[in-house]
Amino acid sequence: MIDTCIDIGMESDGPALFNQSMRTARKHYECCECGSAIGPGDRHEHTTGLWDGEWATYRTCRICAAVRRDFCASYIFGQLWEAMQETHGLGYDSIDEDWPRRTDARPGRWM
Ligand SMILES: [Zn+2]
Repeated sequence: MIDTCIDIGMESDGPALFNQSMRTARKHYECCECGSAIGPGDRHEHTTGLWDGEWATYRTCRICAAVRRDFCASYIFGQLWEAMQETHGLGYDSIDEDWPRRTDARPGRWM
């Protein structure tokens, strides 16, 4: 963990139930962080949780998932790059393509 990019109230606003895993897409989706396409066959992070009594599902592309995993102790879905820009001055374009592959080589580091 390099730093915390957002420290929001996971205690008060966090999900009552939460499941997060890497999945292979079977349909077309959109990354909840950067808006890029997640196509069939793409590995991505799938998160389902119960927030304030309502179920929600978030799909995050590999790059955003890797960045979030490395930089964020807690976070709000959809605000990763805003927080990265504010905290580290990093935008999506400043992340090199090897990042997800390098972080994928460290299984079991999260959750
Ligand atoms: Zn993304």
